[in-house]
Amino acid sequence: MVRWNLWHGCRKISDGCKNCYMYRQDSVFERDSTEIKKTLSFDAPIKKRRNGEYKIPSGETLYTCFTSDFFIEEADAWREEAWEIIRKRQDLKFFIITKRIERFYISLPEDWKDGYDNVCIACTVENQKAADLRLPIYLNLPIKRKIIICEPILEQINLIPYLSAGSIYEVVVGGESGEKARICDYSWVLNIRDQCIEYNVNFRFKQTGYNFKKGNTIYRILRKSQESQAQKANIDVCFD
Ligand code: SF4
Repeated sequence: MVRWNLWHGCRKISDGCKNCYMYRQDSVFERDSTEIKKTLSFDAPIKKRRNGEYKIPSGETLYTCFTSDFFIEEADAWREEAWEIIRKRQDLKFFIITKRIERFYISLPEDWKDGYDNVCIACTVENQKAADLRLPIYLNLPIKRKIIICEPILEQINLIPYLSAGSIYEVVVGGESGEKARICDYSWVLNIRDQCIEYNVNFRFKQTGYNFKKGNTIYRILRKSQESQAQKANIDVCFD
């Protein structure tokens, strides 16, 4: 997995942003997280070695914008160039996760049509309000691979109206990290898993979060163990 951070900085827009990891990291270095800046790795996918080969080899998956949002307003002036870089590297896979799916069409390349084969755009929904706001938009967009990310999951979420449409490839669920993390109740995770099974949608439990509730007990799980503990639950489902 390769991280491609095109720009840094973001503005909080919904409940899921409350304890944003990027804000926590920036506060350590007294950086203003609301200042959105292009990073030095903006053109990383097209950087070449002396022998003319790309530094990032063919076949890699690049996870974009992990300290910002690909569709944030402040990056509108840079997005066209970002799409051009993505278009040039059709031998790579790009994974974009957003809370601003309503801005999808801004700066979209003319040759996008029904989507680039190598680009997955995932929509984050942390609670029912976000699901009902973003998913009706998401379902109607021309994106080849659609993934719903419920992270940090904040409550039980009914995804049935959206899964039943038949265009969602996978749902990923995870709890919140950090010591101020809100609770991730395992029953919410299992409930979404049941919904996915009912509609033949792949399901992945990515991480437990720091405050993980199972039955009546809350477990405090350190960052380094949150993914492995989720894997140990062994509840992922794949219909491929
Ligand atoms: S959209 Fe993502 S990066 Fe931006 S503030 Fe919210 S959680 Fe942080």
